Amino acid sequence: MTDSCIFCKIVSGEGKATIVYRDEQMTAFRDRHPVAPTHILIVPNRHIESVGTLEAKDEQLMGHLFTAARKLAEEEGISEGGYRLITNTGSNGGQTVFHLHVHLIGGQRMRYPMG
Ligand code: 5GP
Ligand code: ZN
Repeated sequence: MTDSCIFCKIVSGEGKATIVYRDEQMTAFRDRHPVAPTHILIVPNRHIESVGTLEAKDEQLMGHLFTAARKLAEEEGISEGGYRLITNTGSNGGQTVFHLHVHLIGGQRMRYPMG
């Protein structure tokens, strides 16, 4: 937990969000400013800044985030049509919240760069 991190606060329950799934490793909640009909953020419960600070011990966790994305996409009914997973990394990558997250975006035909 990092005191000033908004996603750590959501994970701990201190920050408000519409949580759609959680387990001992990760939390998934709806983005505050959705760019598509489905826009869910999938985050590790442990504070990891970005892909730029991942370590070998995080490999199972990262796989878990993607398996969760697949399940959430099925629950949202967007699997068949397809969807987009995005992990912005660092300022040039467009990252604005420095707690690693995977955007699950779908429910419409995607354009670039985001929705
Ligand atoms: P990034 O730009 O870092 O890849 O994505 C950050 C995302 O977090 C943005 O899509 C933004 O709308 C979302 N976001 C930022 N603050 C909050 C918040 O307090 N609650 C929720 N649910 N989403 C947030
Ligand atoms: Zn955090």
